[in-house]
Amino acid sequence: MTGETLAIRPAAVEVRDVHKWYGAQRVLNGVELTVRPGEVTVILGPSGSGKSTLLRVINHLEKPEIGHVSLNGELIGVRRHGERSETGVPPAEGRGRLKELTERAILAQRGRIGFVFQNFNLFPHLTVLDNVAAAPVATRRLKRPEARELARTLLDRVGLADKADAYPRQLSGGQQQRVAIARALALRPGVILFDEPTSALDPELVGEVLAVIKDLATSGTTLIIVTHEIGFAREVADRIVFLDEGRVVEQGSPTEVLDHPTHERTRDFLSKVL
Ligand code: ADP
Ligand code: MG
Repeated sequence: MTGETLAIRPAAVEVRDVHKWYGAQRVLNGVELTVRPGEVTVILGPSGSGKSTLLRVINHLEKPEIGHVSLNGELIGVRRHGERSETGVPPAEGRGRLKELTERAILAQRGRIGFVFQNFNLFPHLTVLDNVAAAPVATRRLKRPEARELARTLLDRVGLADKADAYPRQLSGGQQQRVAIARALALRPGVILFDEPTSALDPELVGEVLAVIKDLATSGTTLIIVTHEIGFAREVADRIVFLDEGRVVEQGSPTEVLDHPTHERTRDFLSKVL
């Protein structure tokens, strides 16, 4: 892709000056993040630095008190501290007046974001196949037979074609997480968010899940991955973002951030995890 094409395509995800409080605690403190289509962004940071909250804001599971998130150039949410979410037209931002999306539009946007959680979150009463097929049916994107066909293709892609009729409890953690990834893919999302996808796994199961994510990374899927797997981050990330106390402290290529960190907080964190 030429630089020119890149420049005119909107960012897959854009986070602008996002602030988020829980009660009196400020959890996100002016986060800025731009993720281009096809780019793999890894978010690093100590526990409690706001990584999960940032993913939840991007997926619109949480609303920021200040700032906005846009997906492919479409605004997800804009609020000023103290304003109610129902406000019609928010204050003019740098790019002109942007209308807040309706709840319905928010749901439609969320349907274009895949989310893979630490604890898999599969439906225990559904087979593996139906776990993957459920979302496209529920969103009425596909009829059941087509959704199941898609699910079989995706299970094959994550190496689990033979587990289609099993139930989640019959699978290892690594297999369950690969089902969760197939389920995220079933929505044909514009971006997939991963929140510590391997941190609940026994060490010997981590590799199979990272291999599936790496396959997505090299096939041009836009990914935002929170992980403590530094070696993996170095291999797959186009950009590494280091978050501390709700702020992006530094960001850059893996070499820049991992080998030549400029901030004390980053150096301190890396010395503990490397
Ligand atoms: P990380 O994922 O980097 O460990 P989180 O985003 O989960 O950090 O949390 C950031 C801070 O926000 C922590 O201090 C956490 O306790 C607090 N927090 C997270 N979620 C909530 C919530 N729903 N209610 C209150 N506080 C929360
Ligand atoms: Mg977290």
